[in-house]
Amino acid sequence: MRAVQLVQWGAPVEVREIDDPQPNGTELLLRVDAAGLCLSDIHVMDTGAGVFDYPIPLTLGHEAAGTVIEVGPSADKSWLGRRVVVHGIWACRRCRNCVRGRENYCLRLARNPGAPLPRIGNGLGHHGGLAEKLLVPSDEVLVPTGDLDPALAAPLADAGLTAFHAIRMNHDLVDESTVAVVIGIGGLGHMAVQILSALDVASVIAVDKRPEARELASTLGCVAAHASVGEASEAVRSLGGADLVIDFAGAPSTVESAIGLLGPGGRLVVVGTAGGRVLVGKDLGLAQGWQVGAPFWGTRSDLTAVVELAASGRLSAETVEFALEDVPRAYELLRRGEVAGRAVVRPNG
Ligand code: NAD
Ligand code: ZN
Repeated sequence: MRAVQLVQWGAPVEVREIDDPQPNGTELLLRVDAAGLCLSDIHVMDTGAGVFDYPIPLTLGHEAAGTVIEVGPSADKSWLGRRVVVHGIWACRRCRNCVRGRENYCLRLARNPGAPLPRIGNGLGHHGGLAEKLLVPSDEVLVPTGDLDPALAAPLADAGLTAFHAIRMNHDLVDESTVAVVIGIGGLGHMAVQILSALDVASVIAVDKRPEARELASTLGCVAAHASVGEASEAVRSLGGADLVIDFAGAPSTVESAIGLLGPGGRLVVVGTAGGRVLVGKDLGLAQGWQVGAPFWGTRSDLTAVVELAASGRLSAETVEFALEDVPRAYELLRRGEVAGRAVVRPNG
């Protein structure tokens, strides 16, 4: 089968012919109907050897939707023929966080100081969905998607799930009177705007340096869209400050000033990883009760909720489709910020 693989750290991905995987034990084999490209893939491919404990060649693709076509001898055959999206966090399901339903913080996936980052799941340590077929360890990582178009289901696995989790963690601040700022209206951010509207938040203010992203934000119902945090600050201040600022860029120019947008009791949620740092301290004149968080991805039950939102028509990724052969070029477009919404591939046509 054809697969998009990272063959060398710090080098572009390659489309290669590799052997078809076979399911053993509890494993299931999916025909990949669609897979999404994430900016995180670029962070992975740009790093040097030794940062991640990932064997290469590695098939990328942590946003995958497909149809179960084969199951291992110990797997439940009733999954055959079902359409699913894959939860990319292949957790231990036994540690204290997994037992709490917080498998995105599974202790097995913990970063140990000085050690390479552990394998998380498909495309991030294990072979991923940018291939014609994908092997998953068990049905515990599958969420059924029914009739949902696979090209809309795939982006739910990360863009939708990470945005949903970042908002769900702050549900006590989310209602009709919430003032929310979403920074970075790309793959993740444009899903966050829709999730906030589905939760009846009327005042969502967008920040993005790209005019097309600001246009998308307005189409999705944002009350205003600004090119920088500085430009947004007056409007946010006139509303009493923000309850919630979610930064999907995480750049020095966004995250460092984003904390200044908070109103009393507000929270800054840092999702993007573009090298920005936040300085916090009790003596910096920040809003009373400030909180800063950096959630990681989301839980399987969050993914189920995200699929339900999409099935009800309230969450739909803007997608740009590419052929599997064109994925190296698509990553270059993503790197240059030239993809509107989410880049998606249908590996089987
Ligand atoms: P994307 O490229 O689709 O979107 C990023 C958006 O931010 C773009 O619209 C871009 O124009 C905007 N932006 C970038 N720098 C900016 C700046 N300085 N000022 C204003 N706008 C700016 O990327 P994506 O796939 O949505 O991913 C967003 C980030 O989230 C990435 O850093 C990715 O690694 C990270 N991520 C984190 C998690 C997590 O669990 N924490 C999960 C997935 C992705
Ligand atoms: Zn665990």
